Amino acid sequence: MPDLVYRGGAFHADTAVEVDAGAGRILRVGPVADLASPGAAVERLEARALLPGFVNAHSHAFQRLLRGRTQWRPASVPHADFWSWREAMYAAALALSPEDVYHVSRFCFLEMLRAGYTAVGEFHYLHRDPDGRRYDDPLELAQRVVAAAAEVGIRVALLNVCYAAGGIGKPLLPEQRRFATPELDGFLDDSAVLLEAYAKESLLTIGLAPHSVRAVPRDWLKELHAWAGRRELVLHMHVAEQAAEVEECRAAYSKPPVELLAEEGVLDTRFTAVHATHISLEEAARLGGAGAGVCACPTTERDLGDGILPAEELVGAGAALAIGSDSQAVIDPFEEMRLLEYHERLRRLRRVVLTEPRNGRLEVAPALMHAGTAGGARALGIDAGRIEPGALADLVAIDLAHPSLAGWSADTLAAMLALSAPAAVVTDVWVGGRRRIEQGRHAAEAEAAAAFRRVAAQLALP
Ligand SMILES: [Zn+2]
Repeated sequence: MPDLVYRGGAFHADTAVEVDAGAGRILRVGPVADLASPGAAVERLEARALLPGFVNAHSHAFQRLLRGRTQWRPASVPHADFWSWREAMYAAALALSPEDVYHVSRFCFLEMLRAGYTAVGEFHYLHRDPDGRRYDDPLELAQRVVAAAAEVGIRVALLNVCYAAGGIGKPLLPEQRRFATPELDGFLDDSAVLLEAYAKESLLTIGLAPHSVRAVPRDWLKELHAWAGRRELVLHMHVAEQAAEVEECRAAYSKPPVELLAEEGVLDTRFTAVHATHISLEEAARLGGAGAGVCACPTTERDLGDGILPAEELVGAGAALAIGSDSQAVIDPFEEMRLLEYHERLRRLRRVVLTEPRNGRLEVAPALMHAGTAGGARALGIDAGRIEPGALADLVAIDLAHPSLAGWSADTLAAMLALSAPAAVVTDVWVGGRRRIEQGRHAAEAEAAAAFRRVAAQLALP
């Protein structure tokens, strides 16, 4: 029992959470006197508050290797951008063995757990060997990622990426050869094998991810959507991250990406558009009207100079926001959440933009917390992100004695967390009722960090 529990958009005292360890789900929530099944162990979480675990709805784990390595440009190059960053990302992708993919993913997932993420949507596009050939087991690298997640105990939605073109109507670039899924049927066959192989894993779900309108032919989209729909899988896609992508789409199809997706019938409640930084008001309305999700990755969008999500318009239109660490420039759900709001403030020269009604006024924290938890869970199709009976017991405890929270009250704590606190406030993390982070540490941390450092030391980028 913690001092406070975050539930229904606010913190509540005198609240205990009872977990069914076998099912990995929350059994009951309420005053401690009313709970505590006879003989059940009651743990007192002294000076801590309990939140739903944060959901990282968009990740490329291997990109953790790029951190710190792309923050420069040659003096002869007038500017750097997403496209020049992509060259470094391709070089890293080409350098990794299956063991490397495992070690980098494992450490990246461990860092996520420490920051309070209990689930991750891994947008997985490393499929082939460094020469572009299929591995003997075509799912070799997917299995390494899944094993890495299982080893540290994070919940993962493996979003299997379809990647067939190097631009609309263009062949793949040589440096994209590890991503190649050149035939739709072959890609769907592999996805079916993944589904079959992992059907019984409690911490794993599968989704489909056409990479982008740049990388997937238009006439594949309907079938990908239908295939996922028949199996009730989520469908994620990079959408309008870059102005150049929108221009390419307009030039080829005479319409911007979201309109194209609407025309192909892809937009619905199982669809998540990742980024959506360069969309029109009409496209925001289309996403919202379809009940689609939008995953913002503001620390990455900031790092890459992508642009700012039109969050206010999207929320106003009915889209559900989620957050993602994407390129792993930063792994911190608190920062990701608050940038949704702070970017809007800078763009609009206003305060208190993204809000939910509470106590007769409009408050920012519940809107941001929703994006960081329930919004992400919805995007990944998992029943988490809320502390309610029946939901998955993915939980995060935070340290109420942390200096960044000094002066907190039950009324101000959510705003302090959502708008000011660092991820270092996280002390304990449970996934499916099992504690994976205890007092800020993971049991496998030393070994996982050492293996990651070995891979990082061997990586030479241009
Ligand atoms: Zn991405």
